Order: sequence, then structure tokens, then C-alpha cells
Amino acid sequence: MGIYRLGFTELKVPDLELAAAYYTEVLGLREVEREGDAVYLKGWDEHDHHSVVLKYAPRHGLEQFGWKVERLDDLEHFEKAAERWGCHVERLAEGEIKAAGPAIRFETPSGHRCVLYYRMQQVGNSLPKTNPPPMPLDLVGIAPKSLDHCLLLAEDVGEAGRFFREALGFRLTEQIVSGEGHQLAAFLERSHTPHDLAFVKGTNGGLHHVSFWLDNISDIYRAADILRINGVELEIGPTRHGITRGQTVYFFDPAGNRNEVFTGGYYVDPVEWEPITWTEDEIGKAIFYYEGRLIESFVTRHS
Ligand code: CA
Ligand code: FE
Repeated sequence: MGIYRLGFTELKVPDLELAAAYYTEVLGLREVEREGDAVYLKGWDEHDHHSVVLKYAPRHGLEQFGWKVERLDDLEHFEKAAERWGCHVERLAEGEIKAAGPAIRFETPSGHRCVLYYRMQQVGNSLPKTNPPPMPLDLVGIAPKSLDHCLLLAEDVGEAGRFFREALGFRLTEQIVSGEGHQLAAFLERSHTPHDLAFVKGTNGGLHHVSFWLDNISDIYRAADILRINGVELEIGPTRHGITRGQTVYFFDPAGNRNEVFTGGYYVDPVEWEPITWTEDEIGKAIFYYEGRLIESFVTRHS
């Protein structure tokens, strides 16, 4: 029981049409629905109604993000747990979160608006349930299969991670620790992968990036080609992370929200995993294993 995966991220964009065009034609998510000042999108292999919401707002950034819980009574459990941390918890009826069942919402100690919800309308992945082909033939752009994880900013990374671990049952997979012993980054999971959520040091409420899943390294290179063909700059990559061992490219949506496509990683044992620690002097390799150093925009540019 508990949280079993990241369900959706809701991104703020000042130009809804431009963002929707980029997310459907370049990144290649499928548009599911438009309603008012929101566009709902999904990766082709996701069955849920949506995994990305584009929301009109004057500035870019993260409006809220949502996690799926296994059982209805998990909501009550997490409501109490979040309240013990001093969070004000809002109860939401079915449908108050678009296409979702009952939900709760609260602000995390790191200043992020977090939704936990039980079930979402299933729209399918467009393949039949009997004798399906391996993929649809009408994919456009990069066409990631699904949303994978998000990386958020927190002034106190230690506290941000502790809340997700102690109140919401997340497990720490990897961390970067400073010479003085402070956590500079924390990687957390609920889906037995290296991360579903991570925090790095920065302004509370901030978004560093949202990441989408591709199956292999050749898809990462294909993504880089598609981005450049469309005139989208690559911030860095294709390269490899030391942390998570993932392979990656970073780029930005037209609003300035950082996107990543990601593959690789490893299985995380939910019972016996011991977290991996990276020391501050190896931070370059931890983040970009081949380059062995951080690039400036990666540290300074966020929302
Ligand atoms: Ca993951
Ligand atoms: Fe990432």
C-alpha cells in the first residue's frame, strides 16, 4: 500500500498554444483534452487520462504534482502523516483533480503543492488488449512512453527528503553530501527505480526539471536529433549521470521549464537497498559522468 508512482506534473506556461505545440509535436506527447486554460497530455504508453498538464500562468514553473496511491484508505493515512508535519491538508472529491478519484492536497515543507490521489480515468495506450502490435504507427516527435520523475528545489534538502521518507514512505537511493555533512541532493523512489523524485539545493517551490522515459540510448540520440531538427537547443548531452547511471539529454520547453529524456538506471530493492553517497568533490561526475563537471546553466537556471 501507499504511493506507487508519480502520476502527473502540472507545468505553468505563459503561452498555452506555443507550449501545446512543442509538447505534442516536438516532445511528442498525445493531447487528451483541453479545458479552459489547461491542456492535458500523456505519453503514448500511459493508460491514465494524463501525466502532464499545461496550465496558463504568467510565469513558468511547477503548479502542482500528483502521486497515485494504491488504496483509498492510504489518503486518510497520509492526511494524518502530513498533518503531523504541520501541513494543512485539503480533501478533494472525485473529479476535483481532473479525471482523478478522491484526493488530498497539501504544501510540502519544501513549498511544493503535492496531490495524492486514488485512481484516474483510464483511456488506454491506443493498442488493443488482444494481440497488440509493439507500438502505434502514428507517433510524432520524440514520443516518450511515459513521465518518469521530477527534480525539485529545496532550501533544506535534508528536511525536504525527510518529509517524503517519513511522512510519505519514500526510500532514499542516492545522495550528494557536502564536506560539512549537509545533503546537497537527495534521490527518492517508490517504484523500485533510482528515482521518482529528487531534491537539489535551491529556492523553495522551485522546479529543476521534469523527465520522460525512453527505452534505450539510441532513443536518447534520436531525441537529440529531433530536438536539433526543430531548432531546440540541447543544454547538455547526450551524456550519462553518475547518480542513477541514467543516460540523458536536457533541453527547455518554450516557456523555460527544463525537460529531460532519460533511460537506464537499475532495480532498487524496497527492503534491503543501502543508499549510495557521492561526495561534494565528485559532484561533477555524480551529475555528468563523462564531462566530470557541472555546467553553469544547470546550477543557475530553474523556475
Ligand atoms: Ca523512476
Ligand atoms: Fe532527471
